[in-house]
Amino acid sequence: MADDLAWTAPPAGLLRPGPDFDLATFDRASTPGFDGGKADGKALTAERGLLMSELQERLFAEGRSGGERSVLLVLQGLDTAGKGGIVRHVMGMVDPQGIDLHSFGVPTEEEKRHNYLWRIRRALPRPGRIGVFDRSHYEDVLVARVDQLVEEEVWRRRYAEINRFERTVTSRGTTIVKVALMVSKQEQGLRLLERLDRPDKHWKYNPSDVATRKKWDDYQEAYSDVLARTNTDIAPWHVIPADKKWYARLAVTELVTQALIDLDPRWPRPRWRVATQVAALLRTMDPENVPTDDERSETVEDSLADEREFAEAVAGATPSAAPAPEKGSGGSEDARSDGKNDKKKDKKKDKKKDSKKKDKKKDGKKKGGKKSDKK
Ligand code: ATP
Repeated sequence: MADDLAWTAPPAGLLRPGPDFDLATFDRASTPGFDGGKADGKALTAERGLLMSELQERLFAEGRSGGERSVLLVLQGLDTAGKGGIVRHVMGMVDPQGIDLHSFGVPTEEEKRHNYLWRIRRALPRPGRIGVFDRSHYEDVLVARVDQLVEEEVWRRRYAEINRFERTVTSRGTTIVKVALMVSKQEQGLRLLERLDRPDKHWKYNPSDVATRKKWDDYQEAYSDVLARTNTDIAPWHVIPADKKWYARLAVTELVTQALIDLDPRWPRPRWRVATQVAALLRTMDPENVPTDDERSETVEDSLADEREFAEAVAGATPSAAPAPEKGSGGSEDARSDGKNDKKKDKKKDKKKDSKKKDKKKDGKKKGGKKSDKK
């Protein structure tokens, strides 16, 4: 099933607003570039999430070894657009140690004493991390404009300032992925109503949400300007129809995964010799319990198989989802593979493993059933 799931065109290009883009006529219930339904979308999200997670680990490892690169996902959208769902369901697919998450609310007294970019600079992702901004410096040309928190000439000047700022950030090794989640007014109304109708969602509701909703048209105008004026080649916008939550999550997963594929992070080379360290370690072990070479390779194969099993379990509804690429395998080729080669390799390995297990059983019987203790 997963083999048939694919984008009809890369979403990075498809979702970037062109010169004729018109937010007023943008279909917020559409699923550009994806012909499947909800189940297909969820399956592909899980499958690509595995790759995203693997690549994130490589980026993290690179950062721990002196690498300076990072990714920054900027999430913008009106109330109920699904920013929180992206954080939970998309970024939740990767190791939380590798995520630098920041939510930007009304500036604190201290933040107000500084330039609006001050708190943003302080929150930029560390090397090797994926930074996530739940709202961002764009609030300073959105709410600041709509609620007239600053003079018009001030917010107008900010578009160029933001473009300059983002150029500096990217020049220091951060890939910026900007996402505007666009929900329709009707869908926003329904989502707010659900929050009111469900006691377990009351905590998400804020009476000010209705006041903000009344300014819908002003926000649409402000968003249109943001998209027109800050959609640069080095930090392009992606406008994502968000009425279908599964589609928005699928699209963001793909954008982040693609950003990581483009970075092509590699496992860093150790600064020590493996053979030397193995010899040193073995000298610390009780000679009786030093595993044989065969046992050591089996341990490695077992743990790789465990990881694959785990990956397949995560994929859940997609029994044929591509397994996570193997540790230590090459960079770009892996990242760009469609998983078919990986699967072939897996089958071969599984066969090899099965026959090895059989051999071991035989050996065990011959040796009187002595077996190593392995989980
Ligand atoms: P969300 O609606 O994002 O889930 P929330 O309702 O829990 O969040 P907070 O995260 O505390 O509220 O704050 C979000 C609010 O802060 C939004 O109304 C947003 O417009 C406002 N905000 C964010 N940045 C600024 C800013 N620079 N100036 C003024 N208001 C801002």
